[in-house]
Amino acid sequence: MSLLHTETLPCPFCGAEAEREIANSVAAVRRPDLRAAILDGSFQKIVCDSCGKTFRINPTLTYMDTGRGTWILTLPCDKRPLWDSFESGALSIFNDSFGANAPPAARGLGKRLRPRVTFGWTGLREKLLCEEYAIDDTTLELLKLLLLRTTEAGNLTENAALRLIARNEAGDLVMAWLSDATEGGTEIIEVPASLLADIAGDKAWDAARAELSNGPFVDAGKLLVSPELPIPA
Ligand SMILES: [Zn+2]
Repeated sequence: MSLLHTETLPCPFCGAEAEREIANSVAAVRRPDLRAAILDGSFQKIVCDSCGKTFRINPTLTYMDTGRGTWILTLPCDKRPLWDSFESGALSIFNDSFGANAPPAARGLGKRLRPRVTFGWTGLREKLLCEEYAIDDTTLELLKLLLLRTTEAGNLTENAALRLIARNEAGDLVMAWLSDATEGGTEIIEVPASLLADIAGDKAWDAARAELSNGPFVDAGKLLVSPELPIPA
């Protein structure tokens, strides 16, 4: 079930308050329109009635697609340094819904779902593109590690992420460094898709693969940035 609620939120540009519809959860099988809106970048994008400027509400939602076997907790980008604690948080939400304490039907469903946690709309969109193109997301993250080793990693900052954004006509992967704030990027990198198969077949990647996929945060950043410890409340 997709759960949407209404909240009064100010426009970040002019401060005008208005009621906005915000998603807590998206069930893609019943609402393929919401999946399409996440893919085309329009989901939770709002045009302010007062100043006419466009902004996007940060995601805090669970996304589930029982057809494709996907369950993704998506959180705002500024939470990314705390990925370690959100990995366990995501697993406990997942286990409450589909684990040992859940009704048998939900447990059966849970066996077909792959839990993930990601940060920002661009992170969620990338996971959906992996489904769309039948790309194993762990292999994609290994490819990013390879790119970071072999190209200038000058764009590696705390406020941007290297993301798969499309495929071109030749079938190459189109990737870009996307800003957390604007979701935009300038430097486009085109990578032959055959590199994915090379990585998948190369045992030299096994150790990194195991580390990347040892929890629901399957992201190259995991091996690049050590997690910050959460501040106790
Ligand atoms: Zn405004």
